Amino acid sequence: MSKISFEFYPPKTDEQRTQLDRTAERLKRHAPEYVSCTFGAGGSTLSYTSETVRHLKQHHGFDAAPHLSCVGGSREEIRELLRLYRAIGCNRIVALRGDLPSGMGHPGDLRYASDLIAFIRAEHGDTFRIEVGAYPETHPQADDALIDLRHFKAKVEAGADAAITQYFYNADAYFSFVDAVRRLGVEIPIIPGIMPISNFTQLRRFSEQCGAEIPRWIGKRMQAYGDDVESVREFGADVVASLCRRLLDGGAPALHFYTLNLSRPTQAVLARLDD
Ligand code: FAD
Repeated sequence: MSKISFEFYPPKTDEQRTQLDRTAERLKRHAPEYVSCTFGAGGSTLSYTSETVRHLKQHHGFDAAPHLSCVGGSREEIRELLRLYRAIGCNRIVALRGDLPSGMGHPGDLRYASDLIAFIRAEHGDTFRIEVGAYPETHPQADDALIDLRHFKAKVEAGADAAITQYFYNADAYFSFVDAVRRLGVEIPIIPGIMPISNFTQLRRFSEQCGAEIPRWIGKRMQAYGDDVESVREFGADVVASLCRRLLDGGAPALHFYTLNLSRPTQAVLARLDD
């Protein structure tokens, strides 16, 4: 199996903590290169992210990377967090702009992910490996796909080491994005972000928000399965496994799974890849 990584979100309740521990135990056997933990823009999950990263490292023994978004934060807050992550022993950060929750006024001291990356490099040199977000289907707020590609390149010039993509279900979007950024002189690894399908209603809602397209044929089949949970799971795992296979065959250097803290949907895909 190629290199893989898993993304978790920080649990807030005891029940969610137990679920993450169970999931982490089950996914450990797939020997991920690292795991990452998301971060809520505007400070809402600030301490949850660092607590979770510490737990994933110390209790589960993972190489754990915090996501860090700059929107809504001050330089001093970000400086503090970077100090904390360094003290915990993190050597990898997923650096993002984030999205400002509606109604929150102040954009923060650093405007774009490229500003955050430059800040991390200025404060900590090469201490952290920096992963950034990439959007094969174009960032939802970008009016111009070509300008969006140039903004992506600016993150690499600011010091990004690798990129993880937003999820997608059309492999050609990934290959075309990789070709386009290579033509711009970007050489860093572009790792596909993989969203296993478990709950289709939830997936459709997420996808509308983050601008990921669900191909019509997948939507139609899912709709037809309706409440037949087993068929939704089987079909979802088949679709995502064949996407992964195509990506790896086409040269994708690794796969990053958005687990949503569930083990089953990700394991169903990995089991098919092992076959
Ligand atoms: P940027 O790269 O800064 O780009 C954002 C937008 O600004 C784009 O439209 C870009 O074209 C434009 N832009 C960039 N630079 C400039 C410039 N100089 N001038 C004008 N426009 C510019 N969100 C969270 O809140 N927490 C998370 O933990 C989290 N994890 C994520 C993990 C991955 C792998 C990915 C792909 C996304 C994640 N997100 C997370 C979502 C992300 O924060 C949003 O997609 C956000 O809208 C953009 O973040 P970014 O880092 O890609 O932003």
